Amino acid sequence: MEVVLTIGAGVLFAVWHSFCDQLAWRIYTAYYSTERKRIENKLAFVFYSSSRCEMCMTHVPWYGLIPIVGYFLVNKKCTSCSRPLSYRFPFFEALAFLYGVLLGFASVHPVEFTLLLVAYASLWVIMAIDYRVLLIPLEAIFVLLLLALIYLFAIRYPVWGWISRGFVPNIDLMLDLSVAFVWYFLFHLLRILSGYKMGAADVPLVLALGLLLGHPLALFLPGLAAMLAIVFYILRRRSILLYAPSEKQIPFGVFLGMGYLILALVRVYKFI
Ligand SMILES: [Zn+2]
Repeated sequence: MEVVLTIGAGVLFAVWHSFCDQLAWRIYTAYYSTERKRIENKLAFVFYSSSRCEMCMTHVPWYGLIPIVGYFLVNKKCTSCSRPLSYRFPFFEALAFLYGVLLGFASVHPVEFTLLLVAYASLWVIMAIDYRVLLIPLEAIFVLLLLALIYLFAIRYPVWGWISRGFVPNIDLMLDLSVAFVWYFLFHLLRILSGYKMGAADVPLVLALGLLLGHPLALFLPGLAAMLAIVFYILRRRSILLYAPSEKQIPFGVFLGMGYLILALVRVYKFI
């Protein structure tokens, strides 16, 4: 039974990733790409269209939508225009499968699993678009912030404090808020000191992810993200196979998102 649940969590995460990646691509195409002016009904394009080839816009056959396997079933290329498909599809679907398996293996609480799925959808949209055009859709950050507040005040700390001779706030809740807000203000400061070279959206993003992680894990988030960014750019210098959107600017949202996903796993396994 446990094996079924673990594999099931993996498959669910891989399918969810595949959906989120299409969603991110549609949002990118409708609002950020050079073809954006050609799409008239943007909302319908984002929410009501089925998966298409990124080059010729032909609909993907159903078997091409199966995570990981679908890429090989369509012979690694579009069935219509026969353009080769990026290896990122099976690669990230496999990673998502592994992530789900790791969550399932740790018998993660269903509430936490659902929370991670919703957070993953917004995060993947943020990461995919930031990686392509160094911009972050504020709507996706708004979803994350809303999710973080619901999680913090309704699930993680349903008791905000105690009324005994005046209101005594829940110290853990206060610590979670403090850590997240300290990073929030430090990021603001960093943005000003860097002459506004840092993206404006990274500031509320670190707040939302900090609130979702809570203390002490949120303390490690910016450091881990910076480390991931350094490793990425060292690898990038050695291989032209790795795409980077700019030589001067870093899509920090991508690394914050990666850092969050790693730390969320650390929390599920109770390492810290
Ligand atoms: Zn095509």
